[in-house]
Amino acid sequence: MHNLDARDPLALGQQLMSVLEGGRRVATYKLATLLALLDYAVEHTPSDPNAVVEVDLDDLSDRVIALYWRQVRDLDGHHLRQSTTATARIPDAVRKLKASTSPPRFEIAVDVARRREPEMYASTRTAVKLTLVQQPLHRLQRVTKNQDYTCFLYDDRWMHDKVSAAAIAQQGNVISLFAGVAHALARLSALLKPALQIAWVDDVRRLNPFLRDDAPDLAGHLFGIDRVSLYRARLLLSREFGSQCFYCDGAVGAGAHVDHVLPWSRVGIDGLANLVLACLQCNGDKSNLLPAPVHVQGALDRGQERLDALAASIDWPSQYERTAAAARGLYSTQPANTPMWLGRKSIELLQPDFQWGTPRTMWSSKP
Ligand SMILES: [Zn+2]
Repeated sequence: MHNLDARDPLALGQQLMSVLEGGRRVATYKLATLLALLDYAVEHTPSDPNAVVEVDLDDLSDRVIALYWRQVRDLDGHHLRQSTTATARIPDAVRKLKASTSPPRFEIAVDVARRREPEMYASTRTAVKLTLVQQPLHRLQRVTKNQDYTCFLYDDRWMHDKVSAAAIAQQGNVISLFAGVAHALARLSALLKPALQIAWVDDVRRLNPFLRDDAPDLAGHLFGIDRVSLYRARLLLSREFGSQCFYCDGAVGAGAHVDHVLPWSRVGIDGLANLVLACLQCNGDKSNLLPAPVHVQGALDRGQERLDALAASIDWPSQYERTAAAARGLYSTQPANTPMWLGRKSIELLQPDFQWGTPRTMWSSKP
């Protein structure tokens, strides 16, 4: 069925970019689906690089909903179009869910909306999943509808424009990534994500003529860190863990930054388990570098139970397990000697045999 050697991530990446760049996209769905698949692969990286990995379609739909959750915010009083047609099933469903779960002018995380209104969330997810299978998943591996093609990610022969929920259930509610594909996607993630986000920003600009004249920070609006809502996390972190920098122990005072230990640009996890207070200097110096594992472990060592309870107290997601899974996936797919941020002006290289989960004493850096 597929003739591409998935153990060659570069070939896989080239193939992906060629199907994405060929032809003009009519909606941003393929980009969303692929971004969701990349994150899924990072968090489900198999220890055997050649393993077949099943992607749970509910989980994939959750990730697509989370992506659009940010995107459906108005920009300068405008709804942003995500497709060439006036209505678009996925953003429309997400916008409706958001309107029914969030108080006006108060941004809540999608995980919180899901906890508050589980039934409404579930029906949104069902609708999104159906659209994903009928459209982007069905078309992701080729440029045009009637083109001859071979599947190189997963078998899509059972998919079509009118596929039913029952047919999806019959497939076990999953797609199976071919041998080696999940591992290759996890490795490619850091390279492909920025390219896909740029393509998405371009599409939104093209689909929304009002954006052409003036140029608000569209990339920041669609993919940036939401500083306003992080304020709540900042207050909580300083109350519970003290007003010092997580990395250098310096006092942070009013200049505290909420830092994503695993960078936002890499995995997009803003649950409390992945958030710490950092001073301006550490936050800036660390930037988008992968942190040394000791920092991720330190963040997780604050304790799952405590983080979960604290997160719930401010209606914030904790995402402890996702943070741990992403750390495992990121460290196991980086090449040896990848530079990692240990402290200000201090870089540690990833050990060739490093395994997330081995005792900390075997790591090279001292906590
Ligand atoms: Zn610091």
